[in-house]
Amino acid sequence: MYRSHNCGELRISDAGSVVTISGWVQKSRDLGGLTFVDVRDRYGVTQLVFNIDENPELTTRARKLGREFVVQATGKVRERSSKNPNRATGDIEIDVDQLIVLNESKVPPFTIEDDTDGGDDLRMKFRYLDIRRTPVQNNLIFRSKLALETRKYLDGQGFVEIETPFLIKSTPEGARDFVVPSRLNQGQFYALPQSPQTFKQILMVAGMDKYFQIVKCFRDEDLRADRQPEFTQIDCEMSFVHIEDILNTFEGLVRHLFRHTLNMELGDFPRMSYDEALRLYGSDKPDLRFGMQFVELNETVKGKGFSVFDDAELVVGICAKGIAESYSNKDLKDLTEWLQRPQIGAKGLVYVKYQEDGSVKSTIGKFYTDEELLALGQKFGAEKGDVIFILSGELEKTRKQLNELRLEMGRRLGLMKPGEYAPLWVLDFPLLEWDEDSGRFHAMHHPFTSPKKADISRMMDGDHETMKSLRADAYDMVINGAEIGGGSIRIHDRALQSRNFDLLGFTKEEAEAQFGFLLGAFEYGAPPHGGLAFGFDRLCAVMNGQSSIRDFIAFPKNNQGRDMMIDAPSPIHDEQLKELCLQIKIDKM
Ligand code: ASP
Repeated sequence: MYRSHNCGELRISDAGSVVTISGWVQKSRDLGGLTFVDVRDRYGVTQLVFNIDENPELTTRARKLGREFVVQATGKVRERSSKNPNRATGDIEIDVDQLIVLNESKVPPFTIEDDTDGGDDLRMKFRYLDIRRTPVQNNLIFRSKLALETRKYLDGQGFVEIETPFLIKSTPEGARDFVVPSRLNQGQFYALPQSPQTFKQILMVAGMDKYFQIVKCFRDEDLRADRQPEFTQIDCEMSFVHIEDILNTFEGLVRHLFRHTLNMELGDFPRMSYDEALRLYGSDKPDLRFGMQFVELNETVKGKGFSVFDDAELVVGICAKGIAESYSNKDLKDLTEWLQRPQIGAKGLVYVKYQEDGSVKSTIGKFYTDEELLALGQKFGAEKGDVIFILSGELEKTRKQLNELRLEMGRRLGLMKPGEYAPLWVLDFPLLEWDEDSGRFHAMHHPFTSPKKADISRMMDGDHETMKSLRADAYDMVINGAEIGGGSIRIHDRALQSRNFDLLGFTKEEAEAQFGFLLGAFEYGAPPHGGLAFGFDRLCAVMNGQSSIRDFIAFPKNNQGRDMMIDAPSPIHDEQLKELCLQIKIDKM
């Protein structure tokens, strides 16, 4: 028997009993004749004590234990004289009379404590040591619980978990595919799924009615911050549903998950159209933990001789409460410079300060009277002590820039409170996006997304401009400014699907070659259907108020898409290449 108890479960009520524990040496210290050794496992830390006078041989051995040695200790539980209230086992210690070293350890390259001194790549290289740390373990345990609760809820709603293949033909989600050469079909390649999109739709044609899968997806994208080339989705699809059924079902899922993992009841899930989200927040994933809505000012400020505003497509502002006194001219200058960095690219920042003494101070005081500036303030509900920030320029850019400023002010003013969750649905996305560079339309969601019913006839016979105004039956769930899920009602009509492929620039032959199997399936009685997918890693991170999904993935890749532990990707043997009929020629730069 390696252990009678784990390292997290002994309490004062166990005092007097003889127990055995096993675990890793976290720390040891010698105090006079006593040696204390903290032993850790997944469940906690328990203190061992050795007394040099009572047991010199054993204590000498204990003093030789190094960090991360694996030990087994037997002894009597006793009450501690100096207790540690920060530890569940802090009332007791084990007076050891038998110590076995199960395994030794090299000195670890970083400290295995909650706050480690290990840099990212080092932690990833020695991920097995990193995972010994409590915060990482807690993340993985949370993830496991979240998956379990997802299955419980969806099972309760009649969903069936069905696996779909990983070796497939490319799925069009807009990213690059990872490809796998086929040995048996030389010169041909499988693609790893960017999502199980086409399979889940086929499962609806197959009559499975409600499908889900917690599934790996693969996208060969340039790795922007916090993207992983392989990530996990909760992927779902339902038949005979309208948007409303889907929103209700998955709002229910997310409520269930918060209730059963965080013990928290979520408030309302407001619904906002894509247009409204852009107009009020400059983003299709607004963080609704705080207000600071955009106020558009074209009507109010134009025609007063200030050419910057007069020439702008959009003049728009936000109101930051209560900072008029605390924000010095230097702070405002810094903020302006922050906005002018190339990443954001604002030309300048106009502000209006409503000071406590009732006076108004502004960068545009020359062009507007105090009365006009006070009237402007009223549009924002500004009070004494508030500052209004105004940006102007081209519509899309200006909204993006003001979105950055709003988020920055939210951060600076502590309005994005950890532990607070503001979910919402964003609806009515455009169906198609016009891409100037390639001179073609792209699907905003994916090519199987249905236009809104009211837009179908316009889609079938409208002109080019009309296509830009089509709305999709697509929806995103957003929590605290992060898109955690998205999906759509699908096209289930062959003619409409063909028209969509036409608009997306596929010839009949191309559409047939790429999606013939799906179009074929649609000819055998496709039910109306729709679904969505949640980013499982992101959901874990958002629910824990963390920004990085990497910390919720046991073995993540770094920013170059490398697994630092197993050192992948890596070259393969010539033999393997030959078998696959592949020749590799790398052009050295
Ligand atoms: N396949 C989509 C995605 O990965 C989700 C969906 O439309 O259900 O974003």
